[in-house]
Amino acid sequence: LQGEAERMERLSLVGQMAASITHEIRNPMAVIRGFIQLMRERSPENQREYFRIVMDELDRANGIINDFLSMAQTRLSERSPASLHDLIDDLLPLLMADANMRGLTIELELADEMPLLLLNAKEIKQLILNLCRNGLEAMEERKGTLRIRTRAMPAHVELQVADDGHGIPRERLERLFEPFFTTKTQGTGLGLAMCLGIAERHGGTIRVESEPGAGTTFTVRFDRSAGG
Ligand code: ADP
Ligand code: MG
Repeated sequence: LQGEAERMERLSLVGQMAASITHEIRNPMAVIRGFIQLMRERSPENQREYFRIVMDELDRANGIINDFLSMAQTRLSERSPASLHDLIDDLLPLLMADANMRGLTIELELADEMPLLLLNAKEIKQLILNLCRNGLEAMEERKGTLRIRTRAMPAHVELQVADDGHGIPRERLERLFEPFFTTKTQGTGLGLAMCLGIAERHGGTIRVESEPGAGTTFTVRFDRSAGG
């Protein structure tokens, strides 16, 4: 009986997911349909702009599907020994460009020594990127610094992403990792759900501390014994 209840709950979760993704994908589809119709009816001078919008919306729909799949993935991805510092290095040019564009700065506070961990580099880069993007977006309207920190402890390795952004009200904290939960007009609400999935697949945890009006810190913790 208990198994049955669990199965029902799982099914309804799948149902909820299906409903949300349907809704998310329908928005760009509606925009694309509208603009293709305009292209047929209107004079050719606006076509370049319409093409751009259609392409952007197609990319957006594609991005939502990719994020959703990576969030829903449960099987263990291929992992090899890697240093968090190397992954941060790889992402830095991208992050710096993003920060510069918004008039924000990035600071690194990295551990002196970083052990190798068994990681899927692609996934962990995605996780770091999602956390950093959120931090930069939270500082959009202000001046601020994004701090990327690492710490190596006897049993764990920690990665922290801290911002001086608008912070998160307490009552919102528990919904943050829900798929499709977003407070942004252009958000997908899949970034943190993806981060959680990635951390958990690596046997890690994520915690968040936030002070509304002052900033937010996300901490990802990995077991050092999972190292290679
Ligand atoms: P998205 O960025 O598409 O909205 P996410 O899953 O990445 O989706 O984040 C979900 C929500 O969590 C955001 O819309 C925002 O309200 C909140 N959030 C995430 N990171 C931060 C942060 N660093 N500072 C403030 N709010 C945040
Ligand atoms: Mg995000």
